[in-house]
Amino acid sequence: MAVKKTSMKSGVPDYFENTLKVIDESAKILKLDPGLLEVLKHPKRSVEVSIPVKMDNGKIKVFTGYRVLYNIARGPGKGGVRLHPDVNISEVKALAAGMTWKCAVVDIPFGGGKGGIIMDPTKMSEGEIERVIRRYTAEIVDLIGPKKDVPAPDVNSGQREMAWMMDTYSMHHSETVSGVVTGKPFILGGSLGRPEATGRGVYTSIKKACTVKKISLKGARIAVQGFGNVGSIAAKLCSEDGAKIVAVSDASGTICNEKGIDIPALIAYSAKNKKMVKGFPGTKAYSGSVLEVDCDILIPAALENQITEKNAAKIKAKIVAEGANGPTTVDADAILFKKGIFMIPDILCNAGGVTVSYFEWVQNFYNYYWTEEEVNQKLVTIMENSFNAVYELAVKHKIDMRKAAYCLAIKRVAEATTARGVYA
Ligand code: NAD
Repeated sequence: MAVKKTSMKSGVPDYFENTLKVIDESAKILKLDPGLLEVLKHPKRSVEVSIPVKMDNGKIKVFTGYRVLYNIARGPGKGGVRLHPDVNISEVKALAAGMTWKCAVVDIPFGGGKGGIIMDPTKMSEGEIERVIRRYTAEIVDLIGPKKDVPAPDVNSGQREMAWMMDTYSMHHSETVSGVVTGKPFILGGSLGRPEATGRGVYTSIKKACTVKKISLKGARIAVQGFGNVGSIAAKLCSEDGAKIVAVSDASGTICNEKGIDIPALIAYSAKNKKMVKGFPGTKAYSGSVLEVDCDILIPAALENQITEKNAAKIKAKIVAEGANGPTTVDADAILFKKGIFMIPDILCNAGGVTVSYFEWVQNFYNYYWTEEEVNQKLVTIMENSFNAVYELAVKHKIDMRKAAYCLAIKRVAEATTARGVYA
């Protein structure tokens, strides 16, 4: 399939093209062999599947799904399954590439993969969603596996969907294979701490960045875009540390309160209100962009391509912590760097989720389970060490944190590729 050069939102660069630009820039710094660079710029495999499903009204509807296995030099593929009407192959490739670098930044033995299905689960019944997920799993059943490629949750998919995927895969293999997916319910071999892991990793990275920027998290003003799994947990942990969450947005709109929003109450409100923050008592609706709110720390935790060259100059935060994957374009990055904004790039900032997914996978192999405290402690150690490694590289080469993170990751993947050699 031809890769579109721009997304549906006009003027926004194609997500995969954007990713390739970052790889090119880092390869220059690393003086990477051109042949090796070409290998790293191509997914190992991109698959499109048709998913015919009988809907509740008795009619058959055919959905389209993707699974991209980007790179396996350092281990099996790893990456979530996104359920969204805007899913496209370019996005899935970019996200799969991002997973490759993310796993390498935090030095866990996985490559990168990603999946997606073009669908709007908010307009479907539970039964319809289940049938889509199960048929999608059946279509890719030979491509995934604990030692091949391990799916996980992403936008609009969670523990429920992972349970269906694990069950479908297990039915096809006539045995229970818990390690085929991560992010499962605890009762099926999920890890304690996994639902909060990405947000906890974002929070840990923010604390490290505050130390570098000499900002106290206590009293810091934070704006959050996206109040799902990542945004809500990151906001909750920061607010528990004394930060003031002054603005929160989600698909329903933006709410603000100068004095700080009560995050635990907002989580409870949104859970009861079809996952929407709109109308939360004690807050005002805000018609401007949450990204441009006057704050110390901005957490984009929704979708990609949110901070672009059009709005980058208007960002007021001192720290941008990318909870989402790919929220900032390459051109916007340069503007933020010039403004002295400290960027914690996605492949570092939101790597807590995949880190605990790795812990889950290890626990599944051992069939021996850790306490939540143990999981959180191991997660914080990995996040802090990874932040330090990236920051040291950024200081050493006088480059921004994103380039430093990519350099660290690409170097590790390139070394593994070189050591394995090119099979022909
Ligand atoms: P989620 O589905 O739980 O939440 C997404 C949130 O974004 C929702 O609150 C939704 O209303 C909001 N949103 C959607 N469109 C929006 C818009 N236009 N403006 C403002 N808000 C909007 O998803 P999630 O798991 O929290 O994932 C969010 C991001 O984090 C994605 O980019 C995902 O790839 C990334 N991520 C997630 C994990 C994880 O473990 N869940 C790990 C790493 C990265």
